[in-house]
Amino acid sequence: MLKINDLHASVEDKTILRGINLEVKAGEVHAIMGPNGSGKSTLASVIAGKEEYEVEKGEILLEGENIDELSAEERAHKGVFMSFQYPVEIPGVSVTNFMKTAINETRKAQGLEEMPANKMLKLIREKSELLDIDRKFLSRSLNEGFSGGEKKRTEIFQMAVLEPKLAILDETDSGLDIDALRIVANGVNKLKGKDNAVIIITHYQRLLDYIVPDYVHVLHNGKIVKSGPKELAHQLEEKGYDWIKEEVNA
Ligand code: ADP
Ligand code: MG
Ligand code: MG
Repeated sequence: MLKINDLHASVEDKTILRGINLEVKAGEVHAIMGPNGSGKSTLASVIAGKEEYEVEKGEILLEGENIDELSAEERAHKGVFMSFQYPVEIPGVSVTNFMKTAINETRKAQGLEEMPANKMLKLIREKSELLDIDRKFLSRSLNEGFSGGEKKRTEIFQMAVLEPKLAILDETDSGLDIDALRIVANGVNKLKGKDNAVIIITHYQRLLDYIVPDYVHVLHNGKIVKSGPKELAHQLEEKGYDWIKEEVNA
C-alpha cells in the first residue's frame, strides 16, 4: 500500500525528516509515536502532500506509484485521507450535504459520474449506522458549535464515506477527551479492513488502549528509531521516551 524509502524532508528550509523508512501493507494499522517536535505531523503532512513541505531525498510510493510530484488533492483522489486538524465551520451546510459534496468531488476527479441520489443516501445511512451517528446530527451545520467529540465524529464519518485506501489520523489535539478518543478508536476499528490501511499518529498511549495497532514506530529527531508490536506502546507509557533517546545515543 505505502512504501517510504529514505525520506528526507524540510519545511521552511529546515530539515525535519532525516531518513524515514516505512512500509504499510493493506489491512494493517500502524501507530507512530514520539516526543513533541520529533516530526510526526511533518511525516503525515509530507505523505499527504501539503505544499509547505519539501521532499529533499527519498521517495513515497502508493501502491507502487511514486506520488512525490502529486498535489495534496491528487493524492486525496488516489485514496489518501488525512484528518483535518482545524475543522472549518460551514454554516448552512449540513453534515450530510458536506459528505455528498466530498464524495462527488472525489468521483469527479477519478473520472466517475456523480453517485445516484438513492445510492448516496444508502451509503450515508449505512456508514452513519455503523458509527452510531444519529439522524439529527446529520442535518446540523458543519462543525458549527460542535464539541471536540462531535468534530472527531464528523471526521471519522468523512473517512467512512470516502473509503480511503490509506487513512492518516494525526491526533495532535491535546484537548482530546476520553469520549473523543473512543470515537476515533471505534471508527478506526470498524472501518479497517483487508483492503485499507491506517496510520495513526499520537503521543498519547491512551488512544492505543482502544485501537490495537499491528506495529508501533517511535519517531525521534526525524527518524524512526524503534519499531515493535503493540506492547512497545505500553513500554512507552511506563517508561516514557528517555530510554529510547539513550539507546539511540549509546
Ligand atoms: P510533532 O508532530 O512530532 O510534534 P512536528 O512535525 O509538528 O512534530 O514538528 C517537527 C519540527 O518541525 C518542529 O521543530 C517544528 O517546529 C517544525 N515545524 C513543523 N512544521 C513547521 C512549519 N510549518 N514551519 C516551521 N517549522 C515547522
Ligand atoms: Mg507538535
Ligand atoms: Mg504533531
